Amino acid sequence: MDKKTIKNSKFEINYYEPIYTIGIASERLGVSVHTLRQYETEGLILSHKTNTRRRIYSEMELDKVRCIKKMIQEQGLNFEGIRQLMSLIPCWKIRTCCDNEDEECKSYTSRKTPCWSTKEKCKYPYPDCRDCEVYRGLISCDDLKKFLYKK
Ligand code: SF4
Repeated sequence: MDKKTIKNSKFEINYYEPIYTIGIASERLGVSVHTLRQYETEGLILSHKTNTRRRIYSEMELDKVRCIKKMIQEQGLNFEGIRQLMSLIPCWKIRTCCDNEDEECKSYTSRKTPCWSTKEKCKYPYPDCRDCEVYRGLISCDDLKKFLYKK
């Protein structure tokens, strides 16, 4: 696991460590619990699930939600549009795992859903997409641009 940490007023938090229940995450973000569940159902974010299937979020997911809110409120995108944009991320280039035109890889062929939310995943999936640099790298709208124009 990466060691990226952020300083809270009293202690350091691992940016990727799931620590917030859905109630606390919704309070911190100023969005409803329903909205957070919906973002996940729509394939835009993932959450860590406990043994009892409770959703837990990290600071990374909180930033992702902020970015999604911005795309909706400031750029007028809807879920479908955001999903399609995210599905264009060239993960094979970021991970340098397969050829540019690997038709066997679901990440390459999927045009409607981000790779982390497709059922079949990519050719070389991480056990948990939350640990993958492709999912982790997309925190802001600028990241999306960097990814899409990656040579
Ligand atoms: S491991 Fe998951 S997030 Fe990473 S490229 Fe594969 S499907 Fe996408």
